[in-house]
Amino acid sequence: MTISSIMHPLLDKNSAQLDMLRLDLLHPTISGNKWFKLKYNIQAARAENKTCLLSFGGAYSNHLHALAYAGKEFGMKTIGIIRGERVENPTLHDCEKWGMQLCYISRSDYRLKADEHFLAAIQEKFPHAYIIPEGGKNALGVKGCTEILDGVDMENYDFITCSVGTGATFAGLIDANYPKAELLGFKAVKNGEYLHRSIEQYTSKRNWKLITNYHFGGFAKKNPELVSFMMDFRIKQGIELDFVYNAKMMFGLFNMIEQTTLFDQKKILAVHTGGLQGNRSLK
Ligand SMILES: *Cc1c(COP(=O)(O)O)cnc(C)c1O
Repeated sequence: MTISSIMHPLLDKNSAQLDMLRLDLLHPTISGNKWFKLKYNIQAARAENKTCLLSFGGAYSNHLHALAYAGKEFGMKTIGIIRGERVENPTLHDCEKWGMQLCYISRSDYRLKADEHFLAAIQEKFPHAYIIPEGGKNALGVKGCTEILDGVDMENYDFITCSVGTGATFAGLIDANYPKAELLGFKAVKNGEYLHRSIEQYTSKRNWKLITNYHFGGFAKKNPELVSFMMDFRIKQGIELDFVYNAKMMFGLFNMIEQTTLFDQKKILAVHTGGLQGNRSLK
């Protein structure tokens, strides 16, 4: 696993050290955290003799993108239930190219995505499908994420940071149990008051906190300040960030390094969760 050291005058000024764990470099297509969330779900699907993987997402979903590719690699059919009306974009184009069947449902129906009766109806319609929740957020997804930091020398770090969508990745990092470090999860969504409790469902550890004020107006929202931060980061650090998750985390982290003393003399490991396929919608 690659760890990049980040160099920046602000870090020098506060004697802080910042490293980035590069999950974005793990795989050319299933980049980042998504493979960790899928791994045990795919194993379970096979153990149940399911021939198809079905999940939910928006039209730019990194999760469905990874699922479609994984299905192709493992010789399983895939079905993506997409929120809203049909759109053309590179994410869905890839999904279809890799054989995923796309079903568009209304936003109001999509809200039922975790409803028992709704799921039973889907299971009846697709009896061979193993159903994975949106974002791969279930106990097996979290279990996969407990392995993200395997092989990293955790004695080194005071803080671990990652971006939070459904919270599955963050829950896994927490539950992997690095008692010396404090874990900070940067929320990529505006609302999500439920996130705190839903993370607690997967772990009883207490050494974590959600950082809530760097969502830039909501999920996948951006402004010129964020975009210029991303461009600057790519030029100065040689690392591309996705605008939905990692750019917001890194912006927030630098903002906190500048405005607080929390990170003075501390060592931080920021987990780059990948997601760069989504940046194609910026161009
Ligand atoms: C999905 C995703 C996340 C959020 O992961 P959750 O487990 O849903 O919190 C973070 N970063 C990237 C790049 C993602 O694609």
